[in-house]
Amino acid sequence: MKTFQVKHVIKWMEETNKKIVQNKEYLTSLDQAIGDGDHGINMARGFQEVVNKITSQDYATTADALKNVAMTLISKVGGASGPLYGTAFLKFSMAAKDQDVTYDIFVKGVEDACNGIKQRGKADVGEKTMLDVWCPVADQLKKENQFNADVISRTAKQAMANTKDMMATKGRASYMKERSIGHLDPGAVSSFYLFEALAEVIYEGA
Ligand code: ADP
Ligand code: MG
Repeated sequence: MKTFQVKHVIKWMEETNKKIVQNKEYLTSLDQAIGDGDHGINMARGFQEVVNKITSQDYATTADALKNVAMTLISKVGGASGPLYGTAFLKFSMAAKDQDVTYDIFVKGVEDACNGIKQRGKADVGEKTMLDVWCPVADQLKKENQFNADVISRTAKQAMANTKDMMATKGRASYMKERSIGHLDPGAVSSFYLFEALAEVIYEGA
């Protein structure tokens, strides 16, 4: 894969939605352990809306498609995660604006998404949130020079696993203090599905 195109965004969202649907109950149970139990429902509703939207419209550019993903997540997903995921895709679309999304632009997009989530959620890495997947993936992408499915999948998986031993200091899970340790962060797990879906799209190429 040389450039990330509209068709790739569509496939990415479809694959993400499939994983979210398959794991909706699991995401719910993770959020029941350290939050309020709505993460599975929030994500399933949001990504179904994204797929409905994105498959029923034509887009001139990758940035236009990413922007529509962002707007849909912001408007359709309740909870903290909707605006945070929405901000990530909005920053991504801004990085991609008016150009072919080469590997370098793609990396900039994920990096800007990580920084956007930080700003929006007033959080940083190590606080047991989705940032602990988005930002390590961005860091690793910067070290590569081409789309690499295995690297993305492996990095996201390890990053997700690393949230287990963290203590939450942002989001609802922070109310649990030390008791949040020993549980995976729900938003880190849904972010892992997103990057796992991305890896599949890259793997299939075309
Ligand atoms: P809510 O917490 O409002 O119930 P969700 O359950 O849908 O929303 O999403 C929870 C996830 O959102 C957490 O697991 C975490 O990954 C992420 N999150 C919560 N607050 C923040 C924040 N300030 N910055 C980054 N991510 C956050
Ligand atoms: Mg919740």
